Amino acid sequence: MDMGISGKKALVCASSKGLGKGCAEALAAEGVNLVLNARTEGPLQETAQHIRDTYGVDVVAVAADITSEEGRERVLKEAGDVDILVTNAGGPPPGMWSDWERDDFIKALDANMLTPIALMKALLPSMIEKGWGRVVNITSQSVKSPIAVLGLSNSARAGLTGYVAGTARQVAPMGVVINNLLPGIHATDRAQSLDAGVAKQEGISIEDAAKQRAATIPTRRYGTAQEFGATCAFMCSQHAGYMIGQNVLLDGGSMNSTM
Ligand code: NAP
Repeated sequence: MDMGISGKKALVCASSKGLGKGCAEALAAEGVNLVLNARTEGPLQETAQHIRDTYGVDVVAVAADITSEEGRERVLKEAGDVDILVTNAGGPPPGMWSDWERDDFIKALDANMLTPIALMKALLPSMIEKGWGRVVNITSQSVKSPIAVLGLSNSARAGLTGYVAGTARQVAPMGVVINNLLPGIHATDRAQSLDAGVAKQEGISIEDAAKQRAATIPTRRYGTAQEFGATCAFMCSQHAGYMIGQNVLLDGGSMNSTM
C-alpha cells in the first residue's frame, strides 16, 4: 500500500534505537525525510547514516535531551516546519508506590507528558497552516492496563492521553491527526532492562525472566521495532485521516479485554 507521504518531513524523537528507530526506518521506507534525535552522538549518527544509505532520504541528526527545554529548542530549530511528529523519550524507572516523591513525579511528567505537549504546541501551528499534519505519541500499554511497578509511567502517560483526547478533536477540523501508539513488550534495550529488574527480583537469569514474560503474551513472543514502526507509518499516512485521538495498542493480545 502506498502511504502517500513520500517527500514529507518528520521529526522522530528519541530515535537512535528501539521503537523510535523502528518508526524512523518505516517512515524513511515511505520516502519521508527525517530529523532524528537522541542524547548520545555516536549511535545517533550511526542510525542516521544507516537510514541515509538504506533509504536515500535526507536525515538531520540532533544530539540533545528532548526532555530539557534547551534540548527541545535545539531540536525544534534544526527541524523547522515538519509534516509529521513522532514523540518519544526514555521511560521512568520501575519502583514502589511508597518510594516516589514529588521530584520523581515532576521528572516523569516532564519527560513523558509535558515534553510531548511542548513539542505539539510548537509544531501544530505550521501543520494547521498547511492543512495537513500527523502526530503519533509513543506512550505505553500501561495507559490501558496498569503495570504496578511503573507507577510513574502510568501517571505521566495517562496525563498525556487525556491531553491528546481533547486536543486531537480541536485540531481535526484543520486536517491535523493526532493519535497515540501503545507498545506492549517489545524487544528493545528498555525491555531488556525491565527483564533485568525481574531477574534480580526473582533471583533468575535475564533469559529466564524474558521467557517467563513472553509466556504471558498470547503471541508467546515480544513485539519487534519493525512491527511497531510499520503501524506508526500507517498512522502517519494519508489513509489515517479519519483516525482521531485513538490509543492503538500493540501488545500481542496481552490485555485481556473484549473491546
Ligand atoms: P530504548 O530501546 O531504550 O531506546 C530509547 C531511545 O530513546 C534511544 O535512542 C535513546 O538514546 C533515546 N532517548 C532516551 N531518552 C532520551 C531523551 N531524554 N532525549 C532524547 N532521546 C532519548 O527504549 P524503547 O524500548 O524504544 O522505548 C521507547 C519508549 O517506549 C519509552 O518511553 C518506553 O518506556 C516506552 N515503552 C517501551 C516498551 C518496550 O517494551 N520496549 C513498552 C512500553 C513502553 P539515548 O539514550 O542516546 O538518548
